[in-house]
Amino acid sequence: MTSIAATTATPNGTREVSDAGHVDVLIVGAGVSGIGAAHHLREQFPGQTFVILDAQDNRGGTWWTHRYPGVRSDSDLFTYGYRFKPWRGPSIAAGQEILAYLDEVIDESNLGQHIRYRHRVTAASWSTQDRQWTVGVTRDDTGQQVRFTARFLWMCQGYYNHAKPYQPRWDGMNRFCGVVVHPQQWPEDLDLAGKRVVVIGSGATAATLIPAIAGTAKHVTMLQRSPTYFFAPPTTHELAVTLRALDIPEEWTHEILRRQYIAQTDLLAQTARDAPDDLHALLIESMRPLLPAGFDIEKHFTPRYRPWQQRIAIVPDGDLFAALREGTASIVTDTIDTFTEHGVRVSSGEELPADVVVTATGFNMSVLGDVAFTVDGEPVDFTERVTWRGIMLSGVPNMAYMFGYFRHSWTLRVDLVSDLVVRLLAHMQDKGATMVVPALRAADSGMPLLPWADPENFNPGYVMRSQHILFKRGDREPWTHLLEHDEERVALPAADLDDGTLVYR
Ligand SMILES: Cc1cc2nc3c(=O)[nH]c(=O)nc-3n(C[C@H](O)[C@H](O)[C@H](O)COP(=O)(O)OP(=O)(O)OC[C@H]3O[C@@H](n4cnc5c(N)ncnc54)[C@H](O)[C@@H]3O)c2cc1C
Repeated sequence: MTSIAATTATPNGTREVSDAGHVDVLIVGAGVSGIGAAHHLREQFPGQTFVILDAQDNRGGTWWTHRYPGVRSDSDLFTYGYRFKPWRGPSIAAGQEILAYLDEVIDESNLGQHIRYRHRVTAASWSTQDRQWTVGVTRDDTGQQVRFTARFLWMCQGYYNHAKPYQPRWDGMNRFCGVVVHPQQWPEDLDLAGKRVVVIGSGATAATLIPAIAGTAKHVTMLQRSPTYFFAPPTTHELAVTLRALDIPEEWTHEILRRQYIAQTDLLAQTARDAPDDLHALLIESMRPLLPAGFDIEKHFTPRYRPWQQRIAIVPDGDLFAALREGTASIVTDTIDTFTEHGVRVSSGEELPADVVVTATGFNMSVLGDVAFTVDGEPVDFTERVTWRGIMLSGVPNMAYMFGYFRHSWTLRVDLVSDLVVRLLAHMQDKGATMVVPALRAADSGMPLLPWADPENFNPGYVMRSQHILFKRGDREPWTHLLEHDEERVALPAADLDDGTLVYR
C-alpha cells in the first residue's frame, strides 16, 4: 500500500522541491471530470490510493471559474449529472446548483480529504525504469514547488485555459472609456444598473448572460458576427413533474429522465446526420413565434453551418427571445470596425453606445492542462501522438485523460471513461503488469493521421483555432475519438483490452 504525505508544505517557504508523497493514481482537476473519476475509482477499485490536484482554490472547474450573472447549464442535468447520483432539481440548472450537487458528491464519496487546491501541475515525467510518474507542482498559495510520484496519471483538466480566456484585440480598444470584461473573469462587484451593455458573441454564454442582465441594465445589445442555432425547451421537463408527483424514488426519476434525454439527443444527432435541412428548418421555425413581429430571422438567427457542427445553444423557456420582445435587449449582426471612446462602431457605420462591453468570445484551448510531459527524458510532442479511444495517447504510458462529449452532456462520457480506466487498472493488476502504453500495431503503420476534429463534423471557433497544437486521430478503431454517445455506450464497455493496441509490461 502506498501513502500520501499529510501535508505538502516545506519549511520557511523555501524554493526547494519537496516530496509530497506517492499515490497509485494522481488525478489532475477537481471539476466534473476529476470528481467523477475519483468517485468511480473509489467505488470500483477500493484500496487504490489517490490524490486530486487542482490549480484553483475550490472545486467545480468550469462552474467555479464561470460566475457571470445567469450562468447555467445548457444540457439537462439528468444526463449532465452522474449516473450514480440522482438530480433532484429542474432540467436546466444554475452554476451554483451544479456546484452544490458536486459538493454532495464530494461529501458522500468522502473525497474532500483527497483534494489539494492551489496545486498547479506544471510537469509530468514518466520513468520506465521506476515505473512511475514524477509530477511537478507549483503551489499557488505559497509559491512552493512540490513533487508527487504516482503509478498512474489521470488527466481530468478540461479543455481550456482557466486563467486566460480568448480575448481578441480590436482596433481602438485603448481609447474606449468604459469597462471591458470577459465572462470567464467576471468582477464580483460589477454593477450594471442603468448601464448600456454590448455583449460581443453569439454562443451559449451570450445567450445566458443577456436575459440575466437585461432587466438591470439600461439596454443590452448582442453583437454577433454570425448567428448560432438556438432551441427553447422548458426549464422543467413535464415528465419530471409527473414522476415526482407519484412520489417514486428519485433514482427512478433520474434514470427515466436520463433515458428520455439520451433518446432525444440520439434522435437529434441522427436527424442532423440524415436530414440536416429538415433539422435546420425545424430549429429556425421553432424560434419564429418567440420573436417580435417582423424580426429579421434570416439575418440574426440563421447560421451558416449545418446543425450539430457546433453545439445547439439552449435558451430555457425562451428567455433570450423574451428580452428581445420586451425591448430590453436587441441584436446586431455585423463585424466590428473599431471601438470608439463611447462604444463600438460596426462595419455598417452604426455606433453602438456602451458603458460596458462584455467579450463573450470563448476559450483558449489547452492541451492536457499545459503540463510539460516527458517520457524517459524525451519531451512529448502531442501533435505527433494518436488518441486511443479518446482516453489514452500513443507512446504515453500509464496515463489516461478525460474528455467528455461536446454535444451530448459532457458527463455521460465521464461515467463511461471512468469504467474503462478502472477496468484497465484492475486488468493490469490481474496480469501483474506495472506499465501499459498504447502503440500502433504493424497493421496500423502508414495509417493516415488526421486532425483532432473533422471540420465537417464539428467546427466551433475555439477548436478550429487550436487544431495545430492538438494530438491526432487515425482512420480506424481504436484510434478515433469524438464519437457519438450511442456508439460509445456500446463500444467502450465492450472494448477489448488485449486487442494488441495496448502493450503491457
Ligand atoms: C459556461 C459553460 C457552460 C457549460 N455548460 C455545459 C453544459 O450544459 N453541458 C455540457 O455538457 N458541457 C457544458 N460545458 C462544458 C464544460 O466545460 C464541461 O461540461 C465540464 O464542466 C468540463 O469538466 P472538466 O472537469 O473536464 O473540466 P473543467 O471544468 O475545465 O475543470 C478542470 C479543472 O482542472 C484544473 N486544471 C487544469 N489544468 C490544471 C493543471 N495543470 N494543474 C492543476 N489543475 C489543473 C482547472 O483548474 C479546473 O478546475 C460548459 C462550459 C462552460 C464554460
